[in-house]
Amino acid sequence: MNKKRVIIAAVVIAAVAAAAALLYFDDTLRYEIKDSISRIGESLEIEESDAETVTVSFDDLTEDERVIFDRSMMLINADFQLEDGFVPDIVEYKDTGVYLNSCASEAFADLSADVMSRFGETLYVSSSYRTAEEQRQEIEEAGDVAQQLGASEHQAGLALDVYVKFFAGEGFLKSETGRWVNENCDRYGFIIRYPYYGTAETGIGYEPWHIRYIGLPHSEIIAENSMTLEGYYSSLEIGKLYSCRAGGNSWIITRQSGGTFDIPKKFKSAVVSPDNTGGYILTFNLG
Ligand SMILES: [Zn+2]
Repeated sequence: MNKKRVIIAAVVIAAVAAAAALLYFDDTLRYEIKDSISRIGESLEIEESDAETVTVSFDDLTEDERVIFDRSMMLINADFQLEDGFVPDIVEYKDTGVYLNSCASEAFADLSADVMSRFGETLYVSSSYRTAEEQRQEIEEAGDVAQQLGASEHQAGLALDVYVKFFAGEGFLKSETGRWVNENCDRYGFIIRYPYYGTAETGIGYEPWHIRYIGLPHSEIIAENSMTLEGYYSSLEIGKLYSCRAGGNSWIITRQSGGTFDIPKKFKSAVVSPDNTGGYILTFNLG
């Protein structure tokens, strides 16, 4: 064998060994590779709706008993920050000292109950709602890692940092429960807000512990189509109605600028949320 070949063979063997070692020791990378493969071919179809519509005012919506108003669909990031003095609708979660946006409470209870029944584990919360003052402290303590004031979903009570016993932060993925939560929280209305595949769009590295409530069907659309919240918003053209099926129901979604609203004539229930970019997202459950 000539010298050159020996060198090439040695380099190849070293590279393969290094990659194998990296994969063996780096749980996050291993999870990302496995998860990327499972995403191939997965998608949730969303198409333009041809449902019959009617034009209504904001007052019409508030008087309609089928319509709930919440803040579940607010886009909160460095570009779209919460306004000064923003006060969300916060509730205490089951006397636990965990405070979160009221719209997320039931969904978190359901997700936690499913985790308990599958794994016999409590899904703990290390950080949920933060007041502006608490976010200010977080910035002082964590520096660059913390979102700037007004850019954190924690200030709206819509985000929860979750963990299970012995497995928190990056380590959450080392637990079977953590991986399951990453793969299935969308069925409960939550998304992994900063997914490993979305860093370019979110500007934030993978946070497998930070779950964000947005509700169905949005959570399933985002998760199944490997999107980010930023990407999802820009995919919804203002004024258009979209339909999809998720969680056993048919849905109509529309992003509108306000004033008047074009809504489907027939629906069972609806959620109206400001989108924090000046408009609204309306979600209609057709049953
Ligand atoms: Zn967080």
